[in-house]
Amino acid sequence: MPIHAVKDHLHPSIEDIYSTSSSERSLPKYRMPDGLTEAHAAYALVRDELLLDGNARQNLATFCTTWVEDEVKQLMTDAVDKNMIDKDEYPMTAEIESRCVHILADLWHAEKSWDTIGCSTTGSSEAAMLGGLALKWKWRARREAEGKDTAKPNIVTGPVQICWKKFARYFDVEIREVPLEGDALGLQPADLREHCDENTIGVVAALGVTFTGIYEPVEALARELDAMERDLGLDIPIHVDAASGGFIAPFIQRDLVWDFQIDRVRSINASGHKYGLAPLGVGWVVWASKDDLPDDLIFYVDYLGGNMPTFALNFSRPGGEIIAQYYNFLRLGREGYTAIQQACSDTAQWLGAELAKIGQFEMVYDGHGGLPAVAYKLKEGDHGFTLYDLSERVRMRGWQIASYPLPADREETVVQRILIRHGVSRDLAALLLKDINRAIEHLSKNPVPHSTAKPGFHHG
Ligand SMILES: *Cc1c(COP(=O)(O)O)cnc(C)c1O
Repeated sequence: MPIHAVKDHLHPSIEDIYSTSSSERSLPKYRMPDGLTEAHAAYALVRDELLLDGNARQNLATFCTTWVEDEVKQLMTDAVDKNMIDKDEYPMTAEIESRCVHILADLWHAEKSWDTIGCSTTGSSEAAMLGGLALKWKWRARREAEGKDTAKPNIVTGPVQICWKKFARYFDVEIREVPLEGDALGLQPADLREHCDENTIGVVAALGVTFTGIYEPVEALARELDAMERDLGLDIPIHVDAASGGFIAPFIQRDLVWDFQIDRVRSINASGHKYGLAPLGVGWVVWASKDDLPDDLIFYVDYLGGNMPTFALNFSRPGGEIIAQYYNFLRLGREGYTAIQQACSDTAQWLGAELAKIGQFEMVYDGHGGLPAVAYKLKEGDHGFTLYDLSERVRMRGWQIASYPLPADREETVVQRILIRHGVSRDLAALLLKDINRAIEHLSKNPVPHSTAKPGFHHG
């Protein structure tokens, strides 16, 4: 008897998934199939295709959360039908979002944390757009009140994440990304006079530069802007892009002054789904006071019931990530966040010290004073391989570590960066170190004649 005749007699609930007809056929990939497929078989097929994705826990190129507690998964499931924009139907989700904003305002030393305003976003990118828009609107209103030209706004930054270039292009603002000089890895106070003028809507300072993990000196930048106000009459606000550092510095670098303690810092963004420890899909933007968010950027929506203010680029969006963020605040408290971030930082510093012992490397950032990360370059000379080759070689063991050139004007320096996050234990880091050593040994014995590995890393 042909085997499929046997299968036709089996009830779907007792069939083996891999012997069903749908697992024997190749299903259409780029058009919708004509008929239905059994749920459990479709699930297995989709899940199996995802096997070819990388293993998130071994991805040390990303800042984003790759480990969550079971309770977070449960809350995400519980909230799967909650649309956070529908604040009338889900008032508790809205309340929880508001609590998170106030918790962050307090954590970032807003003088009157009850008087601040802020919101959740899909990540730091959307948060940066909103922060940038508020700067642009405030600047324009000020200029119009003075009867001055508003045609050419600019924003001054160090080496920024792509979201600021998007902000500038999408919202028609000139970006002045100050080139790195000498050994500099970020924006320096001495850069500001040359690049700022009356059309500067704000200066972006990064607490956690994407490329290396170092912090830009927010307090020193603010002091220079204070001096420029005295000397030149320019009053330029700072937005801190604390995508990662916003959830690190308040816990393990408590003496560092970078937040709303500085009067010139008018807004801050952070990624809940990075060191905020929330699952993917949440960021935050907070303004120092309600006055910093121009009222005409806020829309009032009444067609979901109620009359709700909204300031966002998106509309419908899941509420689960916001709820999970709040869960983490409640679950861990300051003590828990401090313990986790300190452990990450200690592991990064340990890894930095170990990598420094490898003859071929020169540390660019050794994990001290910034994010729990390390960045290094190859020493001068021919090693028989590039950092791109090394990234590719350790990828064979499942590790993802990024290699890329530094931004302008240091493009000739290629660095490799390793990020240590929640869930990357000392033991895991030790396994990676072993694999890096093994890869270097192999590459040194088998030099790569014409390196074909190309830079192609997208910072996330
Ligand atoms: C990751 C990152 C962003 C973008 O954040 P998303 O949450 O991925 O949108 C912006 N700025 C910095 C400094 C970052 O590290």
